[in-house]
Amino acid sequence: MSLKQQYINGEWVTAISGETRDIINPFNQEVIATVPEGNDQDAKAAITAAREAFDNGEWSSTPATERGAIVRKIAELIERDKEELARLESLDTGKTVEESRGDMDDIAGVFRYYAELADKDGGELIDSPVPNGISRVVREPVGVCGQITPWNYPLLQASWKLAPALATGNTLIMKPSEITPLTTIKVFELIEEAGVPAGVANLVLGAGQTVGAELASNGDVDLISFTGGIVTGKKIMQAASVNVKKLALELGGKNPNIIFADADFDIAVDQALNGVFFHAGQICSAGTRLIVEESIHDKFVSALVERVKKFKLGSGFDEETQMGPLISADHLAKVEKYVETGVKEGATLAVGGHRPENSDLQKGFFYLPTIFTDCTTDMKIVQEEAFGPVITVEKFRTEEEAVKLANDSIYGLAGGVWTSDIAKAERCVAKMRMGTVWINEFNLYFPHAPWGGFKQSGIGRELGKLGIEEYTETKHIFQNLKPEPINWF
Ligand code: NAD
Repeated sequence: MSLKQQYINGEWVTAISGETRDIINPFNQEVIATVPEGNDQDAKAAITAAREAFDNGEWSSTPATERGAIVRKIAELIERDKEELARLESLDTGKTVEESRGDMDDIAGVFRYYAELADKDGGELIDSPVPNGISRVVREPVGVCGQITPWNYPLLQASWKLAPALATGNTLIMKPSEITPLTTIKVFELIEEAGVPAGVANLVLGAGQTVGAELASNGDVDLISFTGGIVTGKKIMQAASVNVKKLALELGGKNPNIIFADADFDIAVDQALNGVFFHAGQICSAGTRLIVEESIHDKFVSALVERVKKFKLGSGFDEETQMGPLISADHLAKVEKYVETGVKEGATLAVGGHRPENSDLQKGFFYLPTIFTDCTTDMKIVQEEAFGPVITVEKFRTEEEAVKLANDSIYGLAGGVWTSDIAKAERCVAKMRMGTVWINEFNLYFPHAPWGGFKQSGIGRELGKLGIEEYTETKHIFQNLKPEPINWF
């Protein structure tokens, strides 16, 4: 694959330093592309371009309907190139092409949704406290936005940031994860084709410690929107304090999934598996903490184990594959370490707990789907995100105990409840401290529902109307139609 480039001020450019980075296929460790490795200098050049493009006002003063039309065009181009994008995403992340095709539909849907919202907020008139006054509240773009994304859903996470920022007239600098930049590069080609003016949307490739840190700390950046781990999120929060940037943080999750004995057993088993093992558990909202009513615990675990043993691991390009590899050697080592810790902490391995032995999987970063039982909330494997195919199972006797276990976490991204008693379900979700809660469902999200976390899972919301509000400042304009002297002084 040819050298892919950065996109700064409407030009496709290599890194100022000339450095490059090889992008690795996690299925077989082959180099699939070589991309520029930008650093703080490239980030500064992109910030200057975005600052000038914002300050000249061309994009922010473009009628919102026209901006919406360009965002809609991006959606159409993504739909046109869906198959190419899906295959590229799978090559880069290891996930199945079927999953990636679904992602591309969702991504086009996000651009379409924000294209529609672009011209729907004309502000509001509020009551004037004095006669002959007009008091209105309008929303304006925040300015220059730094956007940093993770490797697990590279283009999906980028779309949640790009679409609302463009629809509201901001300029931006996007930094994708250094290990999965390929679909984001491709979408910048589509952004150019759709007619976004030079300097409005810029793409810088490179590491978090260089490019990301510059975006977070640079005084010309007005907003930083970050999706990634909690440790990085805290660093960004600190760096962003330099100029009191607006901050949107989508951090991790350690999400509880409560299974009551009166739930539909087979569906709950099926969805408990789906809730975790898609993309090998590398999902921020994965239901990795199963909390199961004692009376069905053993039967439930046996059913999970039986199903897990039949999972087909393999290439994302093989139609039979259900689970691909983890993203990298480093990440595989991290997951292995967590499982070792779980064993040391006294949890029981019900299934998995090691790499697969099949000879055809040895070059990839594969790890077997793993389930721990006899887990308690004081264990590291219950409290920390392994971000891999690992479930911990805890038992409960009462509804109160289930909710208490669910809330016993520094995270608050998402959670689920499975029961046929709707009143019980409502009582539980009312007490669950998470940004998204599902009843008899897990991991469903869509463009018009807000997404984000309570507690240390983040600040702010993406998607939905709140997701576009993050990219606006609110201005109150008061006009006196008949000014009179006050005669105080
Ligand atoms: P990460 O925090 O290591 O990296 C995320 C991004 O931040 C990357 O682009 C990285 O280069 C950059 N970065 C790293 N150090 C930086 C620094 N000092 N300054 C600025 N940028 C820096 O996370 P990851 O391993 O790529 O992704 C996995 C994490 O993302 C998990 O914790 C997962 O839960 C979380 N996540 C959350 C959501 C959500 O919606 N809440 C969605 C997807 C992933």
